Amino acid sequence: MSYLAAENRYDHLDYVRSGRSGLKLPRVSLGLWNNFGADRARETQRAIVRRAFDLGITHFDLANNYGPPPGSAESNFGRIFADDLRAYRDEILISSKAGYLMWDGPYGEWGSRKNLLASLDQSLGRLGVDYVDVFYSHRPDPETPIEETMGALAHAVRQGKALYAGISNYSPEQTRAAAAALAAEGVPLTIHQPRYNMFDRAPENGLWDALAELGAGAIVYSPLAQGLLTARYLDGIPAGSRASEGRWISESTISETYLDRARGLNVIAEQRGQSLAQLAIAWVLRQPQVTSALVGASSVAQLEDTLRALENTALSDEELARIEPFAVD
Ligand code: NDP
Repeated sequence: MSYLAAENRYDHLDYVRSGRSGLKLPRVSLGLWNNFGADRARETQRAIVRRAFDLGITHFDLANNYGPPPGSAESNFGRIFADDLRAYRDEILISSKAGYLMWDGPYGEWGSRKNLLASLDQSLGRLGVDYVDVFYSHRPDPETPIEETMGALAHAVRQGKALYAGISNYSPEQTRAAAAALAAEGVPLTIHQPRYNMFDRAPENGLWDALAELGAGAIVYSPLAQGLLTARYLDGIPAGSRASEGRWISESTISETYLDRARGLNVIAEQRGQSLAQLAIAWVLRQPQVTSALVGASSVAQLEDTLRALENTALSDEELARIEPFAVD
């Protein structure tokens, strides 16, 4: 069935500039790391992407290796894009990344010019697009000079195969070095993609300061701690969940210590008339450097629940103080 995007799709979300750039991101973006591989139903994937766009989510985040198997999330998104979204290309931001293991041999991972530019071409092929909006170095490479890795990103931008350059999982010092290397190429560092949520506050140790100084924005991944900051595990471990399948989180994660913290946060969420997922999103968005919360979803219902966070993102000092004892690494 052919798809027509909802006419009111821009009534739901705010769009905020990433740092000092002109690039506006939706306050919530959709990531396709999980749930978009060959192991999930195509129709569910398509329904999630359509609903996301209908609700104003203009940004879809991918990487070369998302799946399983690696590459299949880009291929699956490419098919959905071709079927449903191609007419809306100029309303959509697609990102991809290179840096983690993707193919055999010495060039299949990390941050060489060889890896990044070959990987980008592969991603464009799987996605079926001429360019991605953001191309990221997925992780810092301890061996390759930062000038080479950033030079490859800048080359992709000059070629028009990427519109903006990004980095992910870089420390504050690495971020400053990356921004300087990009600046030498005449390309700004537009965006950083770190992990940030109530259970992982590492970016508070200098990354926000570095980004503020550099004028770059942040899109934070796993803001729901992969489902741990939702009601998903409050009454057991449901079949099909990440913990039940041991995908990135295991059943042992759902310990009594975890449950005490999640239940404590859930009480605060309920008192705000929110779900725990919604509180978790409001909490990351309170941080001025955070442009967008990059969420995952295994169903349309999850995505809809998460997005309702935007109906109330204001957190009082008193609420923040009550969250603090539970929001620990
Ligand atoms: P989240 O923290 O948003 O976790 C998503 C998972 O939480 C879902 O798959 C689902 O789990 C559960 N969930 C989501 N919404 C709800 C809800 N409302 N109620 C109950 N459960 C819910 O993010 P991810 O860890 O998926 O990461 C998001 C994106 O960030 C990725 O897709 C990717 O684009 C990016 N990312 C980037 C990385 C990097 O190195 N740059 C690393 C990791 C992620 P379930 O599937 O069990 O139903």
